[in-house]
Amino acid sequence: MSLKAETSPRLIQLTPDMPVCQQDLPLDWYQPEFQSYAEEYLALPDRRAATVLPWMDHYIQPALDHFGPSLMLLAHYYMGGAIVKLVERYGGRIADSYELALKARENPEARVIVESAVHFMAESIAILARPDQEVWITNPKSGCTMEMMAKEHMLEPAFDELQSRYGDDLLVVAYMNTSGRVKALAGRTGGAICTSSNARAVVGWALEQNRRIFFVPDRHLGEVVAGWLGLAGDDLYLWPGGLEGGQQTIGSLPAADLARLDRSRMILWGGFCGVHTVFRPQHVRWWQERGYRVLVHPECPKVVVDVADGAGSTRYLWNEIMSAAPGSRVAIATEGHFVRNAREQAALRQVEVVNVADIPTPEFSSMGCGCATMSRNDPPHLVAMLDLLRQGRAPELNRVLAGDVVDESSARRERLRPGERELVAAQARAALERMIEITSRAAS
Ligand code: SF4
Repeated sequence: MSLKAETSPRLIQLTPDMPVCQQDLPLDWYQPEFQSYAEEYLALPDRRAATVLPWMDHYIQPALDHFGPSLMLLAHYYMGGAIVKLVERYGGRIADSYELALKARENPEARVIVESAVHFMAESIAILARPDQEVWITNPKSGCTMEMMAKEHMLEPAFDELQSRYGDDLLVVAYMNTSGRVKALAGRTGGAICTSSNARAVVGWALEQNRRIFFVPDRHLGEVVAGWLGLAGDDLYLWPGGLEGGQQTIGSLPAADLARLDRSRMILWGGFCGVHTVFRPQHVRWWQERGYRVLVHPECPKVVVDVADGAGSTRYLWNEIMSAAPGSRVAIATEGHFVRNAREQAALRQVEVVNVADIPTPEFSSMGCGCATMSRNDPPHLVAMLDLLRQGRAPELNRVLAGDVVDESSARRERLRPGERELVAAQARAALERMIEITSRAAS
């Protein structure tokens, strides 16, 4: 069997016996236009690369030939092992959310961008895309649970409450894990977007503006970055996240809480990522006591970051693992699919990688977990999307435009009218462009 199909250097190696899918999705998880592809896939005798790849090649190679360099495939590191390997095999790129947002618009040939990750990432690409580019997502049901805790209908009422007290003093810094509409809110206040790779620089910039920061939606990243920048105690105020955050009123706050809110320099929306909050300081110490270097993602609680040997974005973690000396032992606290891929690749270089939450003793009952919503992308999703695009029959449901709201259980897409969409796109783009400017300045 040939493992050719792509020409660019690979991040991840694929061998004929390597499994390409961690689990099969039930047939009714696929949208109707994708089901015949899923039926064929489920009927394959096994999930080895040697079996799955010829089936995929049969559909994907004609699409690659049809579109040529105008087709750009993208995926995030957290995707199940299958998709990251496959997207790379077909010439695509694997990146973290900051790099993903920039890759499409920096590619002068790309016209049709197909993203296998969660919806906010595809929407960020669409917001920054040129007018001659279109963005498609392989599974619109693939959402981020942190983003779901800060939907526009939850965040807007809270923002209105805070603005009624602080007026134009309020500056929104939104993490990349937000919808385009929430990014537009940041843009409206003159604020910026951040990712885990540049949050320190962006929040540092926001503090220099001498305005009160409303940081959404990840309270843990907010606390970690605030700590790195010297904020503590009363500098921070935790506003509830999710539906509760939208219902909280300033008038109902006890006097002591209101005084703390008034003293704060940074108000944190109480969202979090379930995948990154399974880690505990005692997990970190357990591995450190056994000689492992422990590296964590800053979406982990601050108490975990504080005791780790290093913390940083997905790209930082990958680079640290891949540059570790042979014989090193590294424990990683982040998304499980990423850790598994990193373990496979690091083993080829005699570097041992473990998941910080996977402690083999009864005293710890924890276990690292993968991002379940990203795992909603699998080989049939990629095959169906590319084959239907080639045929000119791609479902509108999979096209991503700025300001779209998707229901992650039904995949129903609510789309803004053109004038409203342009406004949201312009405001969200302003916040993203500010992030790019701050990041470039910090790097130079
Ligand atoms: S790992 Fe957490 S923050 Fe990242 S996409 Fe999944 S749910 Fe969202």
